[in-house]
Amino acid sequence: MRRNRNVKIVATLGPASSDLATIRALFEAGADVFRLNMSHGTHEEQAARHGLIRQVETETGRPIAILADLQGPKLRVGTFGIGAVELEEGQAFRVDLDPAEGDHHRVTLPHPEIFAALEPGARLLVNDGKIILRVEDCGADYADCTVLVAGVISNRKGVNVPDVVLPLRALSDKDRADLEFACQLGVDWLALSFVQRPEDVLEARELSRGRAAVLAKIEKPAAVKAFDSIAEVSDGIMVARGDLGVELPVHSVPPIQKRLVRRARALAKPVIVATQMLESMIESPMPTRAEVSDVATAIYEGADAVMLSAESAAGNYPVEAVRTMHNVALSVEGDATYRQVINAFRTYERTSVADAIVSAAREIAESTDIKAICCFTESGTTAIKVARERPQVPILALSPSVHTLRRLCLVWGVSCVATGTIDRFKSAVVSAARAIRDLGMGTTEDQIVVTAGVPFNVPGTTNILRVAPCDERLIYRAEAE
Ligand code: PGA
Ligand code: MN
Repeated sequence: MRRNRNVKIVATLGPASSDLATIRALFEAGADVFRLNMSHGTHEEQAARHGLIRQVETETGRPIAILADLQGPKLRVGTFGIGAVELEEGQAFRVDLDPAEGDHHRVTLPHPEIFAALEPGARLLVNDGKIILRVEDCGADYADCTVLVAGVISNRKGVNVPDVVLPLRALSDKDRADLEFACQLGVDWLALSFVQRPEDVLEARELSRGRAAVLAKIEKPAAVKAFDSIAEVSDGIMVARGDLGVELPVHSVPPIQKRLVRRARALAKPVIVATQMLESMIESPMPTRAEVSDVATAIYEGADAVMLSAESAAGNYPVEAVRTMHNVALSVEGDATYRQVINAFRTYERTSVADAIVSAAREIAESTDIKAICCFTESGTTAIKVARERPQVPILALSPSVHTLRRLCLVWGVSCVATGTIDRFKSAVVSAARAIRDLGMGTTEDQIVVTAGVPFNVPGTTNILRVAPCDERLIYRAEAE
């Protein structure tokens, strides 16, 4: 099965989507990557979701990526005995270190470092800035606030404190424990929240020891500034528009999104555009026109993936939300303007043999009748480089490593197929031809482009390009001559 779409869909799992039938339906509707949000739910719940995703993977025989999103030094309120309370404008509301359940008058804010840095007049932005509290009086374990902007506050909503500098570490103790748990569980990607410096990413890499790829969430002004140096040490990027639009003026997000998506492609780092993409679908089976346009914009820009958060985790229409993204993708990717935009940003330098080979593969595929670019990839790097070219024909990544294939589920246009261990180029070409026919991407009449590295099983050696028939009899005949 091939999705017939380039952009990938990331669906966050949560209370609305944690049973086998829903996860299977999300996958069938088009989810390529499942996100486990470590800010919510217990390790047992995440382990159960992980197990169900792997069950769907086994059933379908298609690799599926699992991304564990670490909370990072994200500040959140505690819980309310009744789940949620409505705050009114002008009322007094206290946040403190008392672990008791919250009510109409107070809630826990379990971060001593906030109280150490707060001053009267500072604002607390709750739930992506939907509620604003102003600090009137504060001490080492409390802050008495006035509600400036009213709304419903509920369990574990995020808090941003843009007016003071908070002395926070990149990975909290909880993040370290969650990272180790997620790696042992066998997730494919780790997302790091509130990255500020490349060192934050390096710290996570050291802890993950190659067990999962590491993606940096860009949601702080400091990360936007240091983007290139952060991207360089990351395996992927998320434009995390929720917190980005709280930490910076919301109107500054679209230009940042455009710039980061383009830059990530130039640096060959898969990039996800995230947050509030189909927000109204939490409650409604039909998105707003503006949301559809937002998803379309991210796809036109050439993002590798678009993401659903609460829409799939806690909404009433998780499967419909995935289906909506899928349909928007088909509509955009069928438009001639899409191709023009994608081609216009192919402006990066090519500095290696692999860069030149995959560029040649794209040119051959586009100037002759070629059904697909098939790349043998050990670490996944070559497939990401092919994807960076944004070719018009499908990309097939072949690898003996299921870990590599799962990670590649996040990458633009890449379909993944497991191979046995391959030690000769001829058997590589034969298995590519078979996979293309099995996937219905071509017949014995067709031709494909195959890239690989010889010797096999050494990462980073792509050095061969072959135009081959999709028919092993012809491949063997050519070999005999
Ligand atoms: P979050 O990250 O959902 O973990 O906050 C995404 C964002 O901030 O946009
Ligand atoms: Mn965030």
